[in-house]
Amino acid sequence: MKEHVVSSFDVDHRTLGAGLYLRSVYTINEKYAVRSWDLRFRAPMAHAPLGSGEVHTIEHLMAYYLRLDEKIGSSIVSFCPMGCKTGFYLSTMQDVEAEDVRQALGRVYKQVFPLRSSEDVVGLNEIQCGNPGLYAIDSTNAAMAEYMRTLFTAEEAAEIGIGKVYEKWW
Ligand SMILES: [Zn+2]
Repeated sequence: MKEHVVSSFDVDHRTLGAGLYLRSVYTINEKYAVRSWDLRFRAPMAHAPLGSGEVHTIEHLMAYYLRLDEKIGSSIVSFCPMGCKTGFYLSTMQDVEAEDVRQALGRVYKQVFPLRSSEDVVGLNEIQCGNPGLYAIDSTNAAMAEYMRTLFTAEEAAEIGIGKVYEKWW
């Protein structure tokens, strides 16, 4: 596993790299523990943030397909973009570990990416979405491949069937 898949409660955003982090655990009604995962696509300050089209496209796809995931789908509370556009928050119940999230992201990547057109983006219509004209295909493919390279070594990527993220650099 790559080193930036770690647990962290106190994050200094000046030194935060791209990666996957357990950001916090909330207890709801003194009963349900909810884990908030930081899916950091871009290092704050050091990298350009994601574009609005990329953020919206990834939100639609991840919010939908992660909930269908066999391992973590039924434990998902929410999937939301960060306002700073450097990543996303995934909230899950307590039974989900970092490695579960990483593998689920790899499975969704394998199932959904690379996108060919807006037809591949679920829910992008006036009934289900507030701004269906806001999406990006090529740059979302690039951003997702880059994030997969952040989470998986070339060997790990090949093992789970997404080795192409290392072969083609969008
Ligand atoms: Zn939308």
